[in-house]
Amino acid sequence: MDKKNVLIIGAGPAGLTAAYELLKRSDIKPIILEAEKFVGGISRTAEYKGNHIDIGGHRFFTKDERVNQLWDELMPTQGQPSYDDKILGTDKKFVEGGPDPEKEDNVMLLRHRVSRIYFLRKFFDYPISLKFSTIKNMGFMRTMKCGFGYLGSCLHKRKERFLGCSACQRPLPYQGCLVCFNQAFQEERQER
Ligand SMILES: Cc1cc2nc3c(=O)[nH]c(=O)nc-3n(C[C@H](O)[C@H](O)[C@H](O)COP(=O)(O)OP(=O)(O)OC[C@H]3O[C@@H](n4cnc5c(N)ncnc54)[C@H](O)[C@@H]3O)c2cc1C
Repeated sequence: MDKKNVLIIGAGPAGLTAAYELLKRSDIKPIILEAEKFVGGISRTAEYKGNHIDIGGHRFFTKDERVNQLWDELMPTQGQPSYDDKILGTDKKFVEGGPDPEKEDNVMLLRHRVSRIYFLRKFFDYPISLKFSTIKNMGFMRTMKCGFGYLGSCLHKRKERFLGCSACQRPLPYQGCLVCFNQAFQEERQER
């Protein structure tokens, strides 16, 4: 009998994982169609003049053991300090027998990282949290406006008119994409 084929649109993490799992667990042949010249979608590591740059500075965290196992299989956690660990003297729990990032590319690097949203010339928690410093940074009136605006939008939901994003190519506004956010915002403003 002929082998079954499956067509996957997009070589982002979702498409690549689906193809990988199909190859591992079945005899179905996945074919991935990717619009760009690279794989990895918006989570990719771009290469520029020999430097590796993460788009968006992705960090990885999950409590799901199956997902952790998959990552470990594909990209084992750092076992030796990288150059910046050495010069900064960072204190990390490296995995015994794990790869050396100075010799291999396929390494999950351990990083201490704090993410912040810079807005109104102030830093906000990312993800945003409802705490005193957020309200203080926003100011009382703006916080009230946001709160009531949110409640209002729950009661009178406007018709969605977003036609798709030119950057992340999603059919709906995607909270992780700044272009999506901006397009949706502009359309909503025109509507008012
Ligand atoms: C700034 C930023 C920071 C983030 N930080 C984190 C983080 O720290 N940790 C975390 O877990 N997640 C993070 N995310 C979210 C994470 O990037 C996404 O959840 C993940 O990339 C989604 O994977 P995906 O495969 O669903 O989609 P995508 O990564 O968007 O991949 C979709 C792929 O499909 C292709 N495609 C789309 N339409 C077509 C078409 N018609 N034909 C062919 N190809 C097509 C696109 O070119 C793209 O390659 C962040 C996102 C952003 C933007």
